[in-house]
Amino acid sequence: MNKDEPITLSVVVPAYNEQEVLPAFHRRLSAVLDSLGVTSEVVYANDGSCDGTLALLELLAAVDPRVAIVDLSRNFGKEIALTAGMDHARGEAVVVIDADLQDPPELIPELVKYWREGFDVVYAKRTVRDGESWIKKSTAKLFYQVIRGMSRVDIPQDVGDFRLLSRRALDALGSLREQHRFMKGLFAWIGFPSKAVLYKRDPRFAGETKWNYWKLWNFALEGITSFTIAPLKIATYVGMLASLGAFVYAAWIVYRTLMHGDPARGYPSMMVVILFFGGLQLMGMGIIGEYLGRMFDETKNRPLYFLKGYTPSRPTNPESKT
Ligand code: UDP
Ligand code: MG
Repeated sequence: MNKDEPITLSVVVPAYNEQEVLPAFHRRLSAVLDSLGVTSEVVYANDGSCDGTLALLELLAAVDPRVAIVDLSRNFGKEIALTAGMDHARGEAVVVIDADLQDPPELIPELVKYWREGFDVVYAKRTVRDGESWIKKSTAKLFYQVIRGMSRVDIPQDVGDFRLLSRRALDALGSLREQHRFMKGLFAWIGFPSKAVLYKRDPRFAGETKWNYWKLWNFALEGITSFTIAPLKIATYVGMLASLGAFVYAAWIVYRTLMHGDPARGYPSMMVVILFFGGLQLMGMGIIGEYLGRMFDETKNRPLYFLKGYTPSRPTNPESKT
């Protein structure tokens, strides 16, 4: 076992409370890696799980020299866990995959095939989304439309984090150290020749998704505020339009008072105008606040994560085996 063994493929897996699926996941992934016949490692990023995930990973590492464990000091969220895993991946190419078997490991050979053909980013694009409600599907669609309309970065639709990155794409991604990590956007932002591979996304194998609608809403906000300042501009124009409307309305009141005298009514219209502008101003301030808050987080310049422990992999070259 050699620590300096060049590794061809690293598979990075963020795992947060995944004890139910991990054994099945590792079995399926191992079978795929065995069939590939290249030196490979599996980097599990334990994102502060509070179940038996870490113990399970340690067991796996004890029996499988391909396993590396990056153990985060607490739960940092999937994006950061992924980043921690990628920072510790030593392979020439890196595959990012979820632990819940929603992304089929069997697709990895195809991703590798296109990487060998020279693509830096090979992403898996979902054709069917099983086990997801129509609300989730339609909100996801709306989200992609909004973000693609507002931002210059072309974020492919129905593409999760499941993908392969070449070493230079990985290094490029690793140099982006922002706190608010909207991965879909970052993956697209780095550029490089990329290729889509179609696959069918399965429902979760076991365990529960950690996403609810409030989290998804925040995720969408994250995406929009990380990749476009269009809302700030929209706020300006909405404000301008509203003032123009108010000006026209004022002219109309002046005209009416001059022509018909002032009957001293107008309480309802006054309330409407006050509430309308109050709402507009609050909304504009809210939008500014979203950006300001993110600037605040970024200026603190904190490291992205801390590790509690790190177990490197000790893979062997399958060809040198006797
Ligand atoms: N995950 C993580 N940290 C978190 C939440 C999730 O590392 O705080 C991992 C989780 O273990 C899984 C992947 O991210 O491997 C995707 O999570 P999930 O299936 O809950 O998300 P979904 O598939 O619904 O987008
Ligand atoms: Mg999932």
